[in-house]
Amino acid sequence: MTSPSPSRDWRGHLPRLEDLARRLGLDWSPVIFEAVPDSFMTEIAVYGLPVRMPHWSFGARYIYQLLQRHMGYSRLFEVVFPGNPGRAYLAASNGLADNTLVAAHVLGHADFSKNNLLFRRSQDQGSEHIIEHAASHARQIERDIEAHGFTAVEKVLDAALSLEQYIDLDRSLRRERYAEYLPAPPNASDDAFRARFATLDGEDKSVLHTRRERAPIPPHPEKDLLWFIATYAPDMESWERDIFLAVRAESFYFYPVYATQTMNEGWASYWHARLLREADFIPQDTYLDAIKCHSDVVRPVAAEEQIALAVNPYHLGFTLWEEIIKQGGVDAARQIMKEDDDFSFLRNNLTREMATDMGLFRYKRQANGPVKVLAEDIDELRETLLHDKYNFGAPRVAVAEVRGDGTLVLEHNSDIDKRGLDIDTARKVLGYVMHVWRRPVVLRTIDAAAKPVQVVADPAAA
Ligand SMILES: [Zn+2]
Repeated sequence: MTSPSPSRDWRGHLPRLEDLARRLGLDWSPVIFEAVPDSFMTEIAVYGLPVRMPHWSFGARYIYQLLQRHMGYSRLFEVVFPGNPGRAYLAASNGLADNTLVAAHVLGHADFSKNNLLFRRSQDQGSEHIIEHAASHARQIERDIEAHGFTAVEKVLDAALSLEQYIDLDRSLRRERYAEYLPAPPNASDDAFRARFATLDGEDKSVLHTRRERAPIPPHPEKDLLWFIATYAPDMESWERDIFLAVRAESFYFYPVYATQTMNEGWASYWHARLLREADFIPQDTYLDAIKCHSDVVRPVAAEEQIALAVNPYHLGFTLWEEIIKQGGVDAARQIMKEDDDFSFLRNNLTREMATDMGLFRYKRQANGPVKVLAEDIDELRETLLHDKYNFGAPRVAVAEVRGDGTLVLEHNSDIDKRGLDIDTARKVLGYVMHVWRRPVVLRTIDAAAKPVQVVADPAAA
């Protein structure tokens, strides 16, 4: 008789772990747990989704994803996709304690994504089945490559991915085209009368039509660049539009993960710690191993670093939830979990005392510069922590107008932004956009000296 391999054994704990989680008030859609080889985990880290479209720029994200998907400063890798069902991939090579901890952590995420408002909105729009959507996007890309060649497809993907943060979260995933005409003028009843009159005496109806005025496109600055280009590009082919819309759908899915990262990782870490603590069915040595791992997850600073270069969201979120639950109980915490995103979460809950205890005042963000000590101003600290989260982490650029000759005019709003644009990057992105827009593309922004500049990409000059 052989004893079961340790890597499989965590499954044995799963039903009881779930029972315990339910008794503690967690509420989640079913999660499919799967133990997979390490190579599969790496692949997901590269592509973001297990079946996301293959593209070279994912290589550039590799390091970022790899860091992001490690649980805090632990060596554990977490790959979990919220949805109904949710999906969690656990490394088959992990030991019992590791995977028990990851499984408990996943239940925390599943509770979060079923109940948090941003996730619910996104899932109501279809992202519950993101894995299936992503798989069909990947098949679509493969067919495109067969039909149009790799280089052509890659160029469109370059363009779409360079704009992937440019969606409008205040609007729905499925959007209609703008109204073609301006609303009827105030004397509409007069029109109705004339219309009736016209049918009586056979007056030329085109007279009525000419009174309708075409609406400008866009009627207001348009933030959803992916949707706008897919919908209004003059000569884009339908397969190109589909790529834009596929990237856009995946962006809608990723946004809640992005906008709640601190509270979500903190929530999952709070619950993995608590579930393990209360799971009396887990053997003592497994528990001790798991707790050792937990302290790496929520460690403020990586072991080899004297000072952190970035805040560990697991540490920050975990510490905040512990305090919130200590002071107000689990029910109050659940209410916050349902309603907040990282902005309100940090602004409402991170106090000066907690920030001091956590040593957060050491951080100051400088553009690509070193970490500096910050004066102990809590408002400034909160805004420093949130700075990169605004607008999906991207500068505010919107479509301002489409000129008569088809020129696309983009406008960078540096007033709200308080962040400059890297002109070289902007030029590159504009080149990508021009490729699919097939007319000149203009970007109005300011240079380093705050002087207005225009970046232009013109197919005639290319
Ligand atoms: Zn997590």
